[in-house]
Amino acid sequence: MINRKLILVTVILSVVFVAVFLLSSRVPQRGAQSKRIQIVTSFYPLSHIVKGIGGNLVDVRNLVPAGVEPHDFEPSSRDLVEIGNADAILYNGGVFESWVNKWEKGNSPRPKQKINMTESLISNETMLITRDGVVDPHFWLDPIIMKKETEIVRDMFIKIDPLHRDLFTDNANRYIGTLSLLDERFRVGLSSCDLSEVVVLHEAYNYLARQYNFTATSISGISPDEEPSMKELARIISLVRAKGIQHIFAETVASPKFSELVAREVGATVLVLNPIESLTPDEVQSGQDYISIMENNLNNLRIAMQCN
Ligand SMILES: [Zn+2]
Repeated sequence: MINRKLILVTVILSVVFVAVFLLSSRVPQRGAQSKRIQIVTSFYPLSHIVKGIGGNLVDVRNLVPAGVEPHDFEPSSRDLVEIGNADAILYNGGVFESWVNKWEKGNSPRPKQKINMTESLISNETMLITRDGVVDPHFWLDPIIMKKETEIVRDMFIKIDPLHRDLFTDNANRYIGTLSLLDERFRVGLSSCDLSEVVVLHEAYNYLARQYNFTATSISGISPDEEPSMKELARIISLVRAKGIQHIFAETVASPKFSELVAREVGATVLVLNPIESLTPDEVQSGQDYISIMENNLNNLRIAMQCN
């Protein structure tokens, strides 16, 4: 009787032991997964670079959901916790993310690293200043500056995980190569055009225009919700007439109403020039990315500027 009880207890203990062993053998797997580098980005172009360089070694969480305009986005308290738990937060800086100032002054948990792209670029790059006297934050639309952003992200990864230096370097070089090809296509595509001026929705295209020698007059301000005055609209309409501009640019996320209003007034056609601040759900669905959208921007610029 005692022997039977002993056997039963032994069997139960063995089962328990095996179960515990099986459960505990799963722990390293979970551990390995959580060892992926955790990065939070403030908007799409940064998450695009981070995924491209980090590949399978990184989990990227982009704060602004698809189809949401990032200029006036506010993170939730859950977002703030995720930022605090991450290996790094990357944001554009300047006046782009209105929440960052508050976050920097506040005392919510900090990640190990923080990259403010504007501050990282400012020592090596001539930044543009807006009408309001602040740094124009829309530099990701210049493929040459995107290359520098790629190098900054590569160096961040090497600092977090030096063992994978070669992988991060290879991935960064590949992406920089793609950006060089994009730059070349813009240079050639916009080299011989009848017009050198375009009318855009918000003041997002000054770096792009500087790089490829054209002028972008914006209907709205530095953020799409800075609406134009009647006087400003009248000025733009007379400029469009004087220069023979036949296409007015709208965007994918912000309301096209002012672009449509100007176009209607002068009998022009509305085209899209995408500031790539956020992808729409359709763009995500159809696998569009920074490069393919920039190529589409180039095609539409060539139409509007009547290029050969
Ligand atoms: Zn903008």
